[in-house]
Formats: sequence, C-alpha cells, structure tokens
Amino acid sequence: MKALVANVGVKNEAWYRVKTKFLRNIESPAAISLELIQTAEPANPAPHWIKIRSIYSAISDFDEALFIRNDWLALSGFLSFPFVPGCENIGIITEIGQQVQGVELGERVVVNPVIACQARGITPLCDPCSSGNYSMCRNFWGPFPGPGMMIGACKNTSGGWADSFLAHESQVRTISRSVETDQMIMVPEFARALRAVLQHPPAPNDTIIMIGAGSLGLLTLMALNVLGYHNRILVLAEHSFEEDRARTAHPNVQVGFTHGRGTAFEFAGDFLKKKVHYVSPHRPTIAGGADLVYETTGIRDNVEDALYLAGEEKKVVVMGMKGFSNINMTAIMLRGIRVFGPSFSGTESQGKETFDIALEMALGKSLPITELVTHRFMIDQYREALTALENRAASKAIKAVFQHIV
Ligand SMILES: [Zn+2]
Repeated sequence: MKALVANVGVKNEAWYRVKTKFLRNIESPAAISLELIQTAEPANPAPHWIKIRSIYSAISDFDEALFIRNDWLALSGFLSFPFVPGCENIGIITEIGQQVQGVELGERVVVNPVIACQARGITPLCDPCSSGNYSMCRNFWGPFPGPGMMIGACKNTSGGWADSFLAHESQVRTISRSVETDQMIMVPEFARALRAVLQHPPAPNDTIIMIGAGSLGLLTLMALNVLGYHNRILVLAEHSFEEDRARTAHPNVQVGFTHGRGTAFEFAGDFLKKKVHYVSPHRPTIAGGADLVYETTGIRDNVEDALYLAGEEKKVVVMGMKGFSNINMTAIMLRGIRVFGPSFSGTESQGKETFDIALEMALGKSLPITELVTHRFMIDQYREALTALENRAASKAIKAVFQHIV
C-alpha cells in the first residue's frame, strides 16, 4: 500500500532520550521526516480489531505541530516511531477480526482515534477510563497495538495517511447508507470542540474570549451555539478571511485579530471595557480580564496571551495542539489562572460519549461543519497540502483533507 511515514531515525530518537533523561537538554534533535513509500498492509487484525481502507483523512492541528511547526518534542511522549499520521479518519471496512460484532465488510465508518484500555483489552480499566475520561488513559504505552495514544500516532496501527489502517471495534461508528461520506469528515474534530464546551461551559453572564478562528475555533463556536450558550464572545482571529465564518458560526460574536503583540489586548480591552496596561513592552495585561478563554490554536504566543486575557483566578481551556514548547507560565503562578485541557472524547454527564453526540449533531442539527473543508488533496500531494496550511493568508485554508482512491 501507499503510505506517508513519519520518522526521526533511530539514532536521533535514542540520542534525544539520552539527552532528556541524563542531560536535561530539551533542544530539538532533528525535524521529523515524512516520506511517501510503498509498504506492506498492516498485519491482519487481532480478534477485536478491524482493517479499514481509507477514504478521507484530515490534517489535524496535531499533524501541524509535527510537520509544519516541527514541534514534536512536546508531543513525543504520545507517539511511537515510525508511524503513519492521520487521526481524523473515514474509511471502508475491509477485514474483520474473529470476535468483532456489529459491523460488516464494506460498511463505511468514522473512527474515534484514541486507543485506551478497552481497545487494548485491559481489565480492569484504569481510573480515568473507568470514569469515562479515556482520553487520559494511563495505558497509552500498554499492550497491542503498543505505544502511542491514538491511530495516527502509533507505529502498529498505521493511520489515515496510508491506504489502510487498523482500529478496535469500539473505535468505529458505522455510517448509514443514506448519509453522504462528506458529512462525516469533521466529526472527530467537532467531538473535541464539544468536549471542551461540555466539560467547561460558560456561566450565563460570562464574558468569553476565543483565540483562533481556524477549524477548531469555528467548531467550538458552533458547539457553544448549538448547546444554547449565547454569551458575548470576542473571537481573536489570525486572518481576515476567518471573520465572516466566525460570525456565521455564532450570533453573538465580535471579531478582533491577533496580528502583532498587543493588538489582541486592544480588541480585548474594547470588548471587556477594561483598560489595557503596558507595564512591560513585552507583556500587556488587562486588570480583570475575561471570565473564560478558549485557546484553540496551541501556538505559544497565543497560549501565553490567553493566560493574560483571562481575569485573575479565571479559567483558560487549552484546546489547540499546534505547538506547546517553551510557554511562559508566570501568569498561572502570579495571576492564579486555572488551566484545563479537555483532550479528546470522553463520557459526558448524560452517559453518552462525546464522539456519539458529535455524530448525532452532525446528522441532525444541520450544522455547517463540512463547509469548513476548504482544501482536498491526494496523498501524493502532501507537500502542497502542508504548504497550503502553512501559508493560510494566501491559501485561505480552514481545513484540508486527504482523499484516497477507493
Ligand atoms: Zn485506561
């Protein structure tokens, strides 16, 4: 099969581990290489595993951190090399393990990527899994398929950036015949947005600042709207083409921009009707900031800004994953900011999985989530795909996906 394979080289990885363990040196050893190769299909599934032929695989912010920003060190504890990326996937079932139930060959599925205790056959479940928080599973380094927190970061499952990959039966949701495949592409990322809002909802009069109006930011606005949170929201976008999309996603949005340090604070000062203080030229701050900040990019400068845009002792929900290295944490200590990471799906208060709620909403609520897919590429065009996302000002990309010939 054709596969894009990510690797750092055995020598590089071994040297990195020595440096971090004994020398406490976290300097990056090398960029991850990404290579298009012909390789063997993943091995026949274990009894409860399924082989899936890729139809669509999105490029997630996790992938952007690794292949555009080269910021893999921060995520290296959740990966196993060499791996095939692609964690937001739709495909067709081509092989079924002997004990799999409830799915048939040829069915289309959308895949929840996280490989937690249940998928690894571990009983009893670890504490986070047994409380429904399986995205924080303690066994991401456990038995088959081995190290790696999810499909698209695990060396033994393959991923959606290859023709085929493996998934446990608990990870797949079948797509009924009446539903277009396209409708499901954004479900995995929408589940992340829903998880953040369901776990960290605003109070009725909370002021909200959202950093980022890329796909995760826009999906979070849609999640807030569909769940009935009509608070005033300041969206700090990076690009002007994102403005109209943000206004469409939620009715109470005001849009500002993050260009240039300090600019975001001027928009925030106007929005909150609070004074911006420029005590240090490097760090503007607002006395009494927003009640709740959703940070949807993971970009260092934006995460640091989030810690100062939130009011003292208020909450920042860190959602984006484009790169976490070298973030200044002073505000957590000196401003008492409470920081939360919702990670991926889990079990929500009504007993349903976030992934299933996202799926139901994608089918039933007429949410325009599929309209966020602006770019489609064949897997051979991976360089063009990554370039389009790296140069969003020119490409106007929101979400890019690989489509496979099936
Ligand atoms: Zn677990």
